[in-house]
Amino acid sequence: MIASDTLALIGNTPLVRLNGPSAATGCEIFAKCEYANPGASVKDRAALYIVEDAEARGVLAPGGTIVEGTAGNTGIGLALVANAKGYRTIIVMPETQSREKMDTLRALGAELVLVPAAPYSNPGHFVHTSRRIAEETENAVWANQFDNIANRRAHIRGTAEEIWTQMDGRVDGFTCAAGTGGTIAGVGLGLKAKDPDVTIALTDPHGAALYSYFACGELKAEGNSVAEGIGQGRITANLDGAPIDTQFRISDEDGLAQLFALLRDEGLCVGLSSGINVAGAMALARQLGPGKRIATILCDTGFRYLSTLYNPEWLAAKGLPVPGWLTAR
Ligand code: PMP
Repeated sequence: MIASDTLALIGNTPLVRLNGPSAATGCEIFAKCEYANPGASVKDRAALYIVEDAEARGVLAPGGTIVEGTAGNTGIGLALVANAKGYRTIIVMPETQSREKMDTLRALGAELVLVPAAPYSNPGHFVHTSRRIAEETENAVWANQFDNIANRRAHIRGTAEEIWTQMDGRVDGFTCAAGTGGTIAGVGLGLKAKDPDVTIALTDPHGAALYSYFACGELKAEGNSVAEGIGQGRITANLDGAPIDTQFRISDEDGLAQLFALLRDEGLCVGLSSGINVAGAMALARQLGPGKRIATILCDTGFRYLSTLYNPEWLAAKGLPVPGWLTAR
């Protein structure tokens, strides 16, 4: 099949059986290869839907500018969609994110604005900064991925439908972590519409407040995480009404153990949110019991973190375990 253009390459990603996690739990654990999108992350889907929604609403027209605050992947998705459609992009990003994401954004021609990492309540937070830049820029639209539900629509119509079809309509559970919440809410709503008995589990990293929200109704964060792109402290519009049945909290150590197992045992090189998702899928497998069919998300490529997650000095400086083969020469 020949795709008509780059945008037609977004979505319809492969589903892979994770043999190690399946054997360890007695379940079938499948992962959606979102790193196979043209921008190498799950966020290409949201970027395309957000841009097409803005065009349909008449707020984005030729010559226009797309402005967004992002941990990086949404920016990469927006920049490639913008390039394919002829728009300019301004991307605001916390300076703590990986060097590779910044370099990729610059290579795509996005105008990059780096801001110090700050709590959401601080007006300098990357999301508020991006909104202000959009307001001050002529012919600009603010993508607003956290509260623009075109984001989760991409997963209701795309990701959930694809998982359902690829798994022949036999899905017992789905889990992933939340950044904007677009993936967990969209896939959750989409799968529940097919079969209300599918268990939807939120997998939260440390430092996020959603685990406690879904467990006991209170937004309360505990600990912290080096994972990029996940870890939410509020109920975004995308998360509002997400059908969460159960929840897990996964440490960086457990996420990294799965991340390195995927690399060593299955040849898959992905980012830490994917490792945390796989650890969550294994927790869900153990909760549901043997023989169940569970899906999760491999959110982005590990090549985006060669200077961090796959760099022994960086891991050691963060006090994280360093796998032997990264240092053995
Ligand atoms: N993993 C990574 C690496 C991401 O960049 C993101 C998006 N911020 C997510 C997971 C979470 O996706 P969502 O925004 O749909 O919750």
